[in-house]
Amino acid sequence: SKVPPIILNNGIEMPQLGFGVWQVPDDDAERAVTTALAAGYRSVDTAAIYGNEEGTGKALAASGVPREELFVTTKLWNADQGYDATLRAFDTSLAKLGLDHVDLYLIHWPLPSRDTYVDTYRALEKLYADKRVRAIGVSNFLPEHLERLIGETSVIPAVNQIELHPHLQQHAARAYHAEQGIATEAWSPLGQGKGLLEVPAIVAIAQKHGRTPAQVVLRWHVQLGTVVIPKSVTPSRIKENIEVFDFSLDDEDLAAISALNEDRRIGPDPAAFDYVG
Ligand code: NAD
Repeated sequence: SKVPPIILNNGIEMPQLGFGVWQVPDDDAERAVTTALAAGYRSVDTAAIYGNEEGTGKALAASGVPREELFVTTKLWNADQGYDATLRAFDTSLAKLGLDHVDLYLIHWPLPSRDTYVDTYRALEKLYADKRVRAIGVSNFLPEHLERLIGETSVIPAVNQIELHPHLQQHAARAYHAEQGIATEAWSPLGQGKGLLEVPAIVAIAQKHGRTPAQVVLRWHVQLGTVVIPKSVTPSRIKENIEVFDFSLDDEDLAAISALNEDRRIGPDPAAFDYVG
């Protein structure tokens, strides 16, 4: 395969680069995932709240790619937190995807004000014990939320999927994850394509390597060792975004990108976010 795996803390392999489908309507998702699979992607990141698990599942089924070569992630939506509601929501996601198991199931947000993420995670542990998911994890958890989970449950999350890009480099979270054996997965790895891809330092590095700014940013993630899930619905960009395993950034490039950190989020602050609608 074009994309090397990383090994999660339970020994299973996850492709280091996958295809994200946030904000892609169901019909378009089918087309986009089909294009991505043809381009060599084997990992797809969806979520119940994205409303495109059906289109994603149709594309997976139609592709002819053997199930064991695919890595499918979906996420439990906020409104479904709690032990029983989580088990029901998982069944719904699986039915929409048309699968009998997913590879990775994540709690989408911690919602600390509701205080239900520990019970919710116990439901994920049950799904894991029943072999309906190959790995379980979380998304948007701060180190304090992870610390509590690790203290009160028995399976250390395999993954924490967090906002991460050159303007928000997440040094503290990545160090904590590394200490605990949790893989860091970057969402909005391209900064949602706004501004970041026009930053002069990125454009200069792209020119130097004969690559695009998006490829430079994705290569930076790869060299950090994180999992990355860029999104695009444009076939040429879908293809371009996976072609990042045949060149390397040098120390000077990495230093220039390091210097772009502003600790600036695009998305919500996980400590305060409590939207369940
Ligand atoms: P992204 O950083 O992947 O940026 C996507 C946008 O960048 C595209 O819509 C397009 O405008 C632009 N783009 C993509 N490829 C390009 C290229 N080659 N050249 C120029 N522009 C390009 O943003 P994202 O969709 O927010 O994040 C990726 C994935 O992360 C999502 O699809 C989703 O799967 C996941 N995600 C998860 C959460 C969470 O809370 N867990 C939140 C946001 C996103």
